[in-house]
Amino acid sequence: MKKHSLAVVVLLVISSLMASTAITRAQAVTYEFFNNAIGTAGSTRFENGIGVSYSLDTLDTASTFIWQIFGQAAGDRKDDVQRVRLYVDDMDGVAYTINADIHVSAKYVGNYAGDVRREIGGVLYHEATHVWQWNGRGNAPGGLIEGIADFVRLKAGYAPSHWVGAGGGDRWDQGYDVTARFLDYLDGIKAGFVADLNRKMKDGYTENFFVELMGKSVNQLWSDYKSQFGGSN
Ligand SMILES: [Zn+2]
Repeated sequence: MKKHSLAVVVLLVISSLMASTAITRAQAVTYEFFNNAIGTAGSTRFENGIGVSYSLDTLDTASTFIWQIFGQAAGDRKDDVQRVRLYVDDMDGVAYTINADIHVSAKYVGNYAGDVRREIGGVLYHEATHVWQWNGRGNAPGGLIEGIADFVRLKAGYAPSHWVGAGGGDRWDQGYDVTARFLDYLDGIKAGFVADLNRKMKDGYTENFFVELMGKSVNQLWSDYKSQFGGSN
């Protein structure tokens, strides 16, 4: 009996040591909500039809999902980001992100026809990607940045029905759904391609990253992609 309790105590000490190590290594991120559009129809719809806790939970889940897609362990992320703030603003457009501040349009929420919770869920995955992705120290094309954000939205199962299908679009760096579908094709050829590309984009950007990762120029890959899908749009 005595021997048993000693073993239990030792196990407890070991597990508590492991727990404190895990806490130190994975810095917790907090998610905060600010409503700058109180009194507008969109703000009311946001709070009642989407919910503050749902939107903050979605940002939390999305962040974990993004680190997984990017193959990032703690220490390999933007570890200086400890707070992500979500603002609902009385503004035009849909949403934008600066550093770790995500702004969503109350007007867009108010006027959206359809499942607004699902739509904003997808928007939050896209915007949360902007918080965590690398941008080649500002040198990566905007279309690629937006394509990676929509690639994450696609992988999370939030692609809206109005998006182009696989093979759609005119240019690889057209952005959004077009680039997301292209990246998905490349990721299908080489699993982890988007994670590797994002990792390279930490310190800069060159189109040669595609050659280094896929063995072909991005223009050749785009041409392969278009012919694979019959040049459809
Ligand atoms: Zn974006």
